[in-house]
Order: sequence, then C-alpha cells, then structure tokens
Amino acid sequence: MNLPLAIREDNNPFTILGFFPGIQRLLIFVRWTNYHCPFCEGVFRRDYWPNNVRLGSGERTCKNCGKVFDDSAREWPELRVAKKLRFFFPPGAIAMGVSFFLFCGIGPIVVAPRDVVNWLVVAIVLAVSLSPTLTWCLIRMFFVFRSIHRYESESASMHRRLGTAGS
Ligand SMILES: [Zn+2]
Repeated sequence: MNLPLAIREDNNPFTILGFFPGIQRLLIFVRWTNYHCPFCEGVFRRDYWPNNVRLGSGERTCKNCGKVFDDSAREWPELRVAKKLRFFFPPGAIAMGVSFFLFCGIGPIVVAPRDVVNWLVVAIVLAVSLSPTLTWCLIRMFFVFRSIHRYESESASMHRRLGTAGS
C-alpha cells in the first residue's frame, strides 16, 4: 500500500497548568489527537487517548475531497503483540476497569462485616465488579473477529486476482 499517510496532530492545550497548584491541574489529562486528510486537511477522526489502535484496512476515502489515503488503521493479523494488547486495554479502559473493581468489588468486601462475607458473596461481588471489563473485552473480541474475517477475505480475493493475472 503506497497511499499518502493521514496527518496526525496532537493537542495538549492544558500542559502548562501542570506547573501550577490547584484542581485545574487535572485538565492536563484533557488532550486529543486529530487526524487529517493529507490532501484537503479535513479532520476525519479524533482520539482522546494517545496512540489509539484502530482496526481496518487502512484505506479511507475522504468525505471532503473524495481522495483515498492511508488512515493508519491495520487489520488484527497485521498488528504486533504490543498493539494487540493496547487494543484490548487502552489507558481509558484500564482506568475505568480498575476503579470500578476497587469501588464496587474490593471496597465493599473490605468494609462489610466479617459474618456477612462468605465465598459466594465474594465471588458474586467480584463478578459484578469485573463485569464492565469483561463486557468491554467481549465487544473488542467481536471487532477482532470481524477484522480477521475482513483480512482473510481480502487476502483470498487478492490471491484470486493474482492467480488469474498469472495464468
Ligand atoms: Zn480530503
């Protein structure tokens, strides 16, 4: 694929606040990345955490100017292990999963009176507190399967094209 790459632009407008005391310091976590069409510079995507991994063929047609470019998405079989892990556990999902687990799982178990807590209660509470993470992983898995399917049918049709071209 030799398409021109999408332009990436990181926005950290509140970095400077990190140097000052006070609650507004938390704004340094507000940052985003814009992705622009390399031809007309129209924004086609905005991510709120850095190096977000997207699944896709990478080929994208600009809605503005109609030209085709590489949006840097790749299919699952083409990704390295680190990127695969990042797809399943981006920073936002980790933060959300861990805090839900602590507040709704570990928290109540530690606070509850000893005679109430038995293994069944612990198991149920832990299952409930892990359910958002499990749901998240199931949804991600669905996207992974779709990506693998896309990749395989794409390479199958490519082989067919090459096969007919060669004969
Ligand atoms: Zn464009």
